[in-house]
Amino acid sequence: MTTQFAPPPPTIAACSDGTQLPVRRVFCIGRNYAAHAREMGKDPDREPPFFFTKWAETVVSSGTTIPYPTETNNFHYEAELVIAVGRGGRSVSTDHALDYVFGYAAGLDMTRRDLQFEARDKGRPWDTGKNVEYSSPLGLIHPASKVGHLERGRIALTVNGELRQDADLAEMIWDVPEIIAYVSRFYRLEPGDLIYSGTPAGVGAVEIGDVVEVSIDGLSSCVITIGPVARD
Ligand code: MN
Repeated sequence: MTTQFAPPPPTIAACSDGTQLPVRRVFCIGRNYAAHAREMGKDPDREPPFFFTKWAETVVSSGTTIPYPTETNNFHYEAELVIAVGRGGRSVSTDHALDYVFGYAAGLDMTRRDLQFEARDKGRPWDTGKNVEYSSPLGLIHPASKVGHLERGRIALTVNGELRQDADLAEMIWDVPEIIAYVSRFYRLEPGDLIYSGTPAGVGAVEIGDVVEVSIDGLSSCVITIGPVARD
């Protein structure tokens, strides 16, 4: 049997030990820092977490110049701790959740904020706001066997060297075990899944030419440059 066209290549993420991790799916937790929930106009009560998904192909490595997307005038950065899943499992308990972590990385959940808000306010899906081409930049994945599990530590973001986000991972409303337990109630986690764990306060817009850098204590930074709008 002849196939009609070549299958797309898998998305590959780089690890700090020189190995590669094939990306399976991308889950993103929303409003996981109280100060950010407030800046989005929401009450940061400890209501159950929520998440949305993105295509694996939105993941790009640190150092990439990503095109400014079409159909937006308000493209935002969101610095996030990314959890790389290393083991499959369904309905994982918080007690065992860390066994499912392969490692951690610094990442970005780039967002067409104008489209996200329009969808949110009309009760529509978030796809065009969140599941944006090139919108999930990712630094090197550091195996938990090397760096341990991240419960606290500074998470910061600069644009052209100016500090815009500055918080501590301990401020997350839902911690890493709780996030894994929650997502695995709805989907069987699989090796290669990435979970972006939410962003602190201070989100804002980027312009073409900006250099955005996410730093998390103990991890490699994630740096991107915003390039011109893609034409082809
Ligand atoms: Mn986010």
